[in-house]
Amino acid sequence: MLYVIFSDVHSNLQALEAAAGTFPKGDHVRMVFAGDIVGYGADPDECVEMLSSLGPESVLGNHDAAVIDKTDISYFNEWAAEAVLWTKEHMNQSGKDRLRMLPLVYEEDLFTVVHGTLHDPGKFMYMTSAADATHTFEALKTRICFVAHSHVPGIFTLRGGSAYQSFREKLDLKESEKYIINVGSVGQPRDNDSRACYCTYDSDKGEVRFHRVEYDIKAARENIIKAGLPQILGDRLLVGR
Ligand code: ZN
Repeated sequence: MLYVIFSDVHSNLQALEAAAGTFPKGDHVRMVFAGDIVGYGADPDECVEMLSSLGPESVLGNHDAAVIDKTDISYFNEWAAEAVLWTKEHMNQSGKDRLRMLPLVYEEDLFTVVHGTLHDPGKFMYMTSAADATHTFEALKTRICFVAHSHVPGIFTLRGGSAYQSFREKLDLKESEKYIINVGSVGQPRDNDSRACYCTYDSDKGEVRFHRVEYDIKAARENIIKAGLPQILGDRLLVGR
């Protein structure tokens, strides 16, 4: 089976369309979404609609949760909070109803998916160091965990009881190791690469790959500014930060 794991679209329709255009297709392909379909960008309804048509297994992100009042936004920065309020006001009811159906964690035989960390999924904490990853490894029952939230693609490996942080575009999985894979962000990358980012997992080959896709950033930025959202949310897309 070939899994496409993507995340953090953040209402960026241009990025989602471009990324989805490169997703592998066929009976051997399954879609997995790691949260935050909305927040920041100008096209929440269109993105929720497109996500539904892709039909992935999905989990709830912190921005999704904020829009349906499942998390408070006191810890959001100023622009993130403004975008949540904008999204609440502009999104249609059926889109919000779809967000309400999303679980915090999805698990199957081969892998687990959570937006932040697995030991406390409702708190949406960031995993930015090997020390942070340790708690998720302790809670992990499967061999692989796909996470998101930081918008920075990365790999945490559990080897001989210790966690190590690394990054490479292609990872060959070893039987003796466990992995947490941060799949990066489709709609607002923050690793200084402005291209949309997602990940594939080939369970037959035991291989994880990261993919980058160019999209019409100017159009996404203009939509944000036209919508009356904070300009910085458009500007940051240009630099991928
Ligand atoms: Zn996000």
